[in-house]
Amino acid sequence: MMKASPSVLAEHLDNNIEKLRHLGVRITNQRRAILKYIIETKTHPTVEQIYQKLKPRFDELSLATVYNTINLLVKNGMIQELVYHDGAKHYDYLLENHYHLICEECGQIKDVFYPRLTEVEEVAKKQTGYQVYGHRLELYGLCPECQKKHQ
Ligand SMILES: [Zn+2]
Ligand SMILES: [Zn+2]
Repeated sequence: MMKASPSVLAEHLDNNIEKLRHLGVRITNQRRAILKYIIETKTHPTVEQIYQKLKPRFDELSLATVYNTINLLVKNGMIQELVYHDGAKHYDYLLENHYHLICEECGQIKDVFYPRLTEVEEVAKKQTGYQVYGHRLELYGLCPECQKKHQ
């Protein structure tokens, strides 16, 4: 998800396509469209939602193709897999560091832009001697729509 300009998004798409080529991945129009969509969307879609979105543009697109492409992108660290509230797997491209705010009632996920909390990783490293690769932080609350339902 993003606050970025179209040219920045295009650059991210090109860079990732280039990386995939280096990894020996064949870049089809469908794969390119899936990657482009996940870079541009703000919605943290599921595989099914990506499929529904792109199906009108590609008659021959299958759910399996979306599934395989998404798995490929996760495996290569290009997108993040999130499992939330509804039990479904959602996908997100981390264009800019952000944390997730989840509505505990409807499961809607919002991006909260905040600098990466590197300090906690440093402290963890010092305390334990581990090599620390990263962390996850999730915020929980009630979205404005659900707040209205309670009023
Ligand atoms: Zn809600
Ligand atoms: Zn996100």
